[in-house]
This record gives sequence, structure tokens and C-alpha cells, in this order.
Amino acid sequence: MDSRIERIQRQCAAKPGVLCLAGGLPADELFPRVALAEAFVDSVMRPSSGALQYGWPEGNEGLRRWIASRLEARGLAISPEDVIVTSGAQQALAIVCDVLAVAGGRVAVDPETYPGALDLFRAKGARTVTTLDDVAFAYVVAGASNPRGLGLTAARREQLLASGRPIVADEAYAELRFDGVVPRPLVVDAPQRVLHVGTFSKTLCPGLRVGWLVVPKHLRAEALRAKREADLQASSLAQAVLESYLADADFDEHLARARELYASRVDRLARAVTRELPEYRFVRPEGGFTIFVERDDEKAIDEARALAVAAAHGVSFDPGSMFRVDEKRTPFGMRLSASSLGETAIDEATSRLATALREVGG
Ligand code: PMP
Repeated sequence: MDSRIERIQRQCAAKPGVLCLAGGLPADELFPRVALAEAFVDSVMRPSSGALQYGWPEGNEGLRRWIASRLEARGLAISPEDVIVTSGAQQALAIVCDVLAVAGGRVAVDPETYPGALDLFRAKGARTVTTLDDVAFAYVVAGASNPRGLGLTAARREQLLASGRPIVADEAYAELRFDGVVPRPLVVDAPQRVLHVGTFSKTLCPGLRVGWLVVPKHLRAEALRAKREADLQASSLAQAVLESYLADADFDEHLARARELYASRVDRLARAVTRELPEYRFVRPEGGFTIFVERDDEKAIDEARALAVAAAHGVSFDPGSMFRVDEKRTPFGMRLSASSLGETAIDEATSRLATALREVGG
């Protein structure tokens, strides 16, 4: 990420009163604090939980069983041995880079995608491209994309599968589709070629830093080696807390509440953008936290200046270039996140943003 932009974003996050359309953080009020606190006490006090002890690189068996059974319910023939618990989806992606040896190679991505993946692939020595030719793998945020919140079209799904290349399917937001219909995981269609990435960060809370990776059997030993080298294992404490929480919680009910909250916030934001920023176009998201808006014209607007002026007006956003593979700044675009603001704050934030953009000619 451009360091100027990062500096402004950090200042913004630290400034009281700034309404945050940046970041894409899960809603605080959805964190099941009491249930997690009970799970924490249970895990720490009960020696058999293993919470305070070292564990194995692949992660807790109970948690892997839970993850495998959810995937099984979605049509995947899988056993707990196929799951590796990771320190968030981000680490799963880093492991994938090592296992599929991307250094010096190319990775196919969508024209706009998750910046944490773009930065990672580049740091691992790969070139990010939008074609599928001659790539180490194709990376796709399936279910609901980041930043657009859109599902994979049938045509794109077919194209990815037909490419014959390994596919890394990042399902960070798949269970947060507003229609509640979680699509068939890509890995079901090509289990020998698809590496599946999931996380509890968006559906439950990112603070636990627990995600997972499912790789084809022939890559498992390599993936476990990479995991062990990175950090030996995911946090025993976080895994035990999760396992204890999931044993008692109705996770589907929790997901239903989360989907409903995010759907209504994203809808509110979409309406505010239509009202306040008529020069900007976007496609209505199908899930997730965010909307990606772009100006209709090629008018040059300095992103860092727009951010600084927005901060002065008490609002933040994520500049479009962060998400674009070509890092282009035109058309001027923004990712706006509805997830962590209440509905009236969403209206106020959008109105502040419109004022700030008018000031910078946008
Ligand atoms: N993939 C996507 C598409 C994301 O948006 C994020 C978080 N912003 C991640 C992966 C990383 O998630 P985690 O917190 O599980 O590392």
C-alpha cells in the first residue's frame, strides 16, 4: 500500500469523531462477548482443552472436525485430516504462496481484489496479472468478493475451472451472502486443483486470528511444513476458545443475524451513495461489508488529498487504487464499508464524504 495513504488512514483511525467508511471491520455489536468469555474461562480452566499447551501444526482435532463437517454439508467429500487451522486466512494465503512456489511467477487475480492478497503475492516475488495463461495459480474471492461484494458468475467459475491451473478460492465472506445461499465451494468441482481458504474473522471475530486451509492431498505435507516453519501452530488458546464456543453456540443463527445486519447496512449505504454521490456508479453487492464506487468520468482526483480532506470533514474511505491490480487512480474509485456504522451514521458519513469530494473537485 502507498505509505502516504497508510499514514492518513492511521491518523484517521486514531482521530475521535471520524466516521469510518474505510477498513471493512466486522460490526462490534455482533461479537458474542458473553459466550466467548464463558468459552475462554472454560478453555483455560479445563486442562483437557489444551488451551495453554503447545499443539500440532495442523490444529485442534475438534476444531478441524467442526470445519470439515460444515464443508461436508456443502457437498465436499472431506475429513478433518484435510483441514489445516491457520492464523487467519492471511496466513493460509502465505502458505499457499510457498506451497505453489510463486516466487518469480505470475498469479491471476480479478481486476480489483483484496489488497492484502495483492501485497502478499507481490512480496512473495510474484507478478499479479488478470489473464490465466502461464500462472502459478489463480486467486479468487469466492462467494462475495472484496471490494465489490459480488459472487462468482457461472462463466467465471467455468473459465477458472477450465484453465487447468491451481485455483485458490478465498471464501472469507461466502457465508455472509445476503441471500443466505452459500454457493458450492469451488473445491467440490476440482478437489485436486483447488486450495480452499476460510476464516472466522468476518463471521465471528478477527481478534482470535483463526482461519483454515484445505489443500489437495498431494500438497498436504508441504503445506504443513510451511505452517510449522511460519509459527509452529495457530494459537492453542484461540482454537480452544473457538471449539468451546462452537460446541454450545447456534452458529447458523449467529450467521443469520450477521447477514441481516450487514444487508441492511449495505443497503442503507447504497441508497445514501445514490442520493449524495450521483456521479458515482456501483453494482449492488450480494454480500460482505462493502461497496466499490467509481466515478463515471476520467477526472483526475488526487487520492491522498481526497483522503486528507475527507478526514478533515470527519470521514474516511479506502482509495480505489489499493484494490486495482494495475494500481490506476482513474477513474477515481473508493471502497466504502457499511459494516461498522449504524444506519444514521452511514447517512452522515456519506454526506460528509460528498462535501469533502466536492471540495477536491470530485
Ligand atoms: N481474504 C479476504 C478477502 C479478506 O477481506 C481478508 C481480511 N480483510 C482476509 C482474507 C484476511 O482475513 P484474516 O483476518 O482471516 O486473516
